[in-house]
Amino acid sequence: MIYGWRGAKMGSYNVPNTVCRFCNCSEPQRITEFGKYAHAMWIPLFPIGKTTVAECTSCLRTIEEKDFPRDLNSQMIQFDGEVKRPIWHFSGLIIVGVFILFNVLFG
Ligand SMILES: [Zn+2]
Repeated sequence: MIYGWRGAKMGSYNVPNTVCRFCNCSEPQRITEFGKYAHAMWIPLFPIGKTTVAECTSCLRTIEEKDFPRDLNSQMIQFDGEVKRPIWHFSGLIIVGVFILFNVLFG
């Protein structure tokens, strides 16, 4: 595929004070965020969303964001902004922006 979308890990953090519904322990849940981006010829163009998963640090069960328990969701609010999307996911937009700017200045 010379164009399409790909996912890349953006970062992760541990959320304490939640109870795992598989092992019933209160070990931290490890949250990992993956950023999806559109690409053409393997050059990232622009972001198209993200996927968040949680892994229990005790039993290692992984759950998707839609299955997150309420206490985990409420604990995650304080980590909002913890994971930043890397600037290279915007490469296509930056290139287009520079191109337009160049044309405006010198066109
Ligand atoms: Zn667990």
